[in-house]
Amino acid sequence: MTHPTQRPGQAPYLRIATEEAFCPSEMLDIYRKILTEPQVDIGFKSLMGFYMSSPSERAQHIMRCLVDLDQVRIGHMDDAGVDMQVIALTSPGVQIMDRDTAVSFAKFANDELAEGVRRHPTRFAGMIAVAPQDPHEAAKEIERGVNHLGMHSVVINSHTHGEYLSDQKFWQIFEAAEAMDTPIYLHPNAMPAGMIQHFIEAGLDGAIYGFGVETGLHALRLITAGVFDRFPKLQVILGHMGEALPFWAYRLDYMHAATVRSNRYPSIKPLKRKPSDYLRENFHITNSGVAWGAALKFTQDFMGPDRVLYAMDYPYQYVLEEVEILERLDMAPQVRQAFFQDNAERLFKIPPAKSAAV
Ligand code: CA
Repeated sequence: MTHPTQRPGQAPYLRIATEEAFCPSEMLDIYRKILTEPQVDIGFKSLMGFYMSSPSERAQHIMRCLVDLDQVRIGHMDDAGVDMQVIALTSPGVQIMDRDTAVSFAKFANDELAEGVRRHPTRFAGMIAVAPQDPHEAAKEIERGVNHLGMHSVVINSHTHGEYLSDQKFWQIFEAAEAMDTPIYLHPNAMPAGMIQHFIEAGLDGAIYGFGVETGLHALRLITAGVFDRFPKLQVILGHMGEALPFWAYRLDYMHAATVRSNRYPSIKPLKRKPSDYLRENFHITNSGVAWGAALKFTQDFMGPDRVLYAMDYPYQYVLEEVEILERLDMAPQVRQAFFQDNAERLFKIPPAKSAAV
């Protein structure tokens, strides 16, 4: 079913979807090899092991869409009323690979994506994939992505082999991201082995709940480790309505202050600002997978309308009616335009002339 009234170019603003995934077929070859290893990560097996082998209609559809950077994807965007996608290498990207493979494959994937953007410059923009396994190379790839590929954001799929970016050994990545003015989209990954068991036995480890819990934890670890005191201009993007963190803000502030006062943990140190201040000043939030007016309104009230962006989460949550659902919400015209277009153009440095040419 298509919605002809929603065709791209039919609204007074552009609809830019900002958490959309792709996967070069070469990455699937690497994944297939990893999946045959005896010690394969349980979360990776639960996530990509499922999508790559399930005969279900949903899994097959997702795999078909992921590898396409041309007419399949553009046809789906047209049908759903999406003018432009900001595209990232799908989770876990290179972060499940060994260091050398991850470093070289990140470059390959970024080149592939840049080619796709060159073929369809009014429909696609890209995020830079990096290998946190090698922070020095990751920093170099951010520079190459900006200077040579014309991309202005970075995607990192949460933890890397169970390690979090709150560890200072990774902070060279933040230094480069801050210097190059590239926001980092902190996208979910499958949970690390030490965390997943109680979720997986209940079937709750994936996008239904586990992703949000683990990625929200990662974001909080960045805050409590003092990342934003050290890199005050750094911007992090969270999907899925901020992985619910806006709803936690009040208690985070109270309990963080109480924990600092009681000296309970060496890892909880005084910060320059309150946790909620960092959320409002160092984060942007997309509504990927959450086309729900009450949650969106609360998040816009908490973050301010300039920090909340539209995202679909294609192809994992490809919902034809989504744009229509969102456009039926009671939202001031300038807030709607900021949500669908202006915030994305500003944050991802999409030239207005480029996106206006749809
Ligand atoms: Ca996603």
